[in-house]
Amino acid sequence: MLKIAYHPIYTHPLPERHRFPMIKYELLPKQLLHEGTCIEENFFTPQIPDIAPILAVHTQSYYKSLRELSLDAKSVRKIGFPLSKELVDREVIIADGTIKASEYALKYGIAMNIAGGTHHAYTNRGEAFCLLNDQAIGARHLLRQGLAKKILIIDLDVHQGNGTAEIFKDQNTVFTFSMHGANNYPFKKEKSNLDIELANHTEDQEYLNILKETLPRLVKDQKPDFIYYLSGVDVLGTDKLGKLGCTIAGCEERDRFVLQTAKDQNIPIMCSMGGGYSPDIKIIIDAHANTFRLAQDIFF
Ligand SMILES: [Zn+2]
Repeated sequence: MLKIAYHPIYTHPLPERHRFPMIKYELLPKQLLHEGTCIEENFFTPQIPDIAPILAVHTQSYYKSLRELSLDAKSVRKIGFPLSKELVDREVIIADGTIKASEYALKYGIAMNIAGGTHHAYTNRGEAFCLLNDQAIGARHLLRQGLAKKILIIDLDVHQGNGTAEIFKDQNTVFTFSMHGANNYPFKKEKSNLDIELANHTEDQEYLNILKETLPRLVKDQKPDFIYYLSGVDVLGTDKLGKLGCTIAGCEERDRFVLQTAKDQNIPIMCSMGGGYSPDIKIIIDAHANTFRLAQDIFF
């Protein structure tokens, strides 16, 4: 059974100018149900989790300043959203979705979160709409519980997973792999275990050649017993922020290759959605829905 984390707070209302990127979290489950890719039983509702898994990644003082809404104005500006209790709850619930989906992935081979992929959140600060790093929290949770020994994070969002790289720097239990636009945010990048930078307008064939050359080698060398996949669809040529030139079909083939690799190697995989900023919401939903359609096709 494909288990997918979803909570109505994912679409938490924000001021008008922030609303657009949130709509997809409401539309995506609707689309998956409407087309028959999923039934209600596929979805589960994450909650506000224990504080321990969060504090295993983020510093107490940073988390406290989020919870007490006492983060300084400059740090709030870096996050980009006005800080509110609902926003912090939302982020904490997303992290719980990723924790629980990680456990479901151990049981069923794969599990997903309708949101998440908040890879710009560092140990002690947030930026670019990311407050807490959901996949880092999930990964630490699995390691601490003895449920995984070596984790591979495959971050194919068009933006570098700078927070994830910082959180796991100098730690050999988590291998961070980020493939991203060279000339895109963050302009000062962190060092992942493997970074592959892509030129502007990189198209499907080149993109997929690089991925298909790299991923099997990484899996062979690192021998992960768990994979996190950040499947941002801001690699599309239509994306407002992406600067790459991938098509929907190319993005789908990317997802297919990642999921099939995990399935073939018998490595549980947890998938968070990440970014997607095409002006036409239908394109964003279709590209994200493909990841779920493929999960059902390949695993169930
Ligand atoms: Zn992104």
